[in-house]
Amino acid sequence: MFTFYKTIIIAFFLSAHLSATILVVNRVNQKENELHILDNSNVTYVSANDLSRVLTSRLPFINKERMKMVLYFSDTRIKISSNSSYILVDEEVYHMPVYAIDSGDDIYLPAVPIFNILKQTVLPGLTYDPIKQRLDIDVVKFNITGLDIDQKANGTILTIYTRERFLEGHISSFEHDNGWFYLTVQDGIVDTTRINKADTRGVVAKVTANQFSESAQIAIRLRSSIIGHEVFQSPDPNAIVITLRTPFDKSAERIRKLRNRWRLDTVVLDAGHGGKDGGTVGRSGTREKDIVLDISKRLGLLLEKKTNINVVYTREEDIFIPLWKRTKIANESNGKIFVSIHANSNPNRTARGFESYLLKQGKSDDAIALASRENAVIKLEEHSGDKYKELTGENLIMATMAQSMFLKESEELAAFIQEELGNRLNSPNRGVKQAGFVVLIGASMPNVLIETGFLSNPTEEKRLKQASYRQKIAEGIFSAIVKFRSLREELLAEG
Ligand SMILES: [Zn+2]
Repeated sequence: MFTFYKTIIIAFFLSAHLSATILVVNRVNQKENELHILDNSNVTYVSANDLSRVLTSRLPFINKERMKMVLYFSDTRIKISSNSSYILVDEEVYHMPVYAIDSGDDIYLPAVPIFNILKQTVLPGLTYDPIKQRLDIDVVKFNITGLDIDQKANGTILTIYTRERFLEGHISSFEHDNGWFYLTVQDGIVDTTRINKADTRGVVAKVTANQFSESAQIAIRLRSSIIGHEVFQSPDPNAIVITLRTPFDKSAERIRKLRNRWRLDTVVLDAGHGGKDGGTVGRSGTREKDIVLDISKRLGLLLEKKTNINVVYTREEDIFIPLWKRTKIANESNGKIFVSIHANSNPNRTARGFESYLLKQGKSDDAIALASRENAVIKLEEHSGDKYKELTGENLIMATMAQSMFLKESEELAAFIQEELGNRLNSPNRGVKQAGFVVLIGASMPNVLIETGFLSNPTEEKRLKQASYRQKIAEGIFSAIVKFRSLREELLAEG
């Protein structure tokens, strides 16, 4: 949601007697209006009735007996009282350096403070020049428009909705010793009333937004200390996401459950592409989707024959499975690791070798460019818009928290895979890399995407076409999984 100044067309009002006024210039429709003022020596007071008439589209509520007024700016109520220096914007209290005063049937407010409060809250496009006694109104759209707070077992996630992507360097954050966490966004124009209305939960006790001239600040009071935090921007819908990590509940029951949850009893094998998405194609027509399905099946067979690990396939045939569904399958089957198998391509036909990728979220355009080829499949998915909105919202954030938990394990698994493939394949080990592969986003388990070789390289295409070579790849990945499981079981035994 966002709010902006709405054009106001109101009949020009001229008082019979001469009195001082502030000129109001609406730069949107070039209309001019006037606000009556009491010019008492060095403080200029402006009429609340006039503020309502010129700046809002709804009549104010006036309690004449108690000299209180409510001004309505869209769905925000501003309550003022004469002989008080406090202003209530919805439930938020603002303080003015001097009192509001009454003049019988109107309340007069100190001009500079009230314009500042309006600018900070409901009308970001206000500019007041106290020398010229001129108030300019321009359209300024809030670019920080709302907030959601979500509690997870290991922390709290704040999604701050924005209307644009900010430069990375314009977002800064820190946790202060005083128990507050601060986010500052340079060039941010924050809808403070909306942010301040947010329901709090999790480690977040209170949220307060403040508008400064060059930046917006969101201050978060924490109920307890946090063990870490991440801030990143996520697209579609645009948002700044803050994860505030808190320790897991350490009860014995919890640990037991956690152990069971972590026991490596299920492996999800994801053969890349399929159906109308062929993946990359080699010079002599070898299709990625066929190669990787065969490797997945060989790997699954090894796991089923030689271990008691349960194997779940995202696809076992040449069918199209959207990316979101692959991780959904993985999560719903309680998979403990997710292995996505692919074959690579490069315009440079000499490029060859195998490499493994980890999901690294929130990192820059480089990673996105790297992953764009594998992610391009999203375009093939019908009605994918909704799904990926989901994926970039809640699921993405959950995944990111999960990823930070699983990143270390994913790294270990990837290292084992590279090592084991290196022992078997006569092909360069290109190492473990990081990129934002969509297929890995949302898998709440350690996960790795393997590029087994380059179909664009004639030698590797020839090899990948050989069943014996694909068997070697499957055996390499199999050994890596078994090694990874032993390591994990050792750790569980120790824990
Ligand atoms: Zn692929």
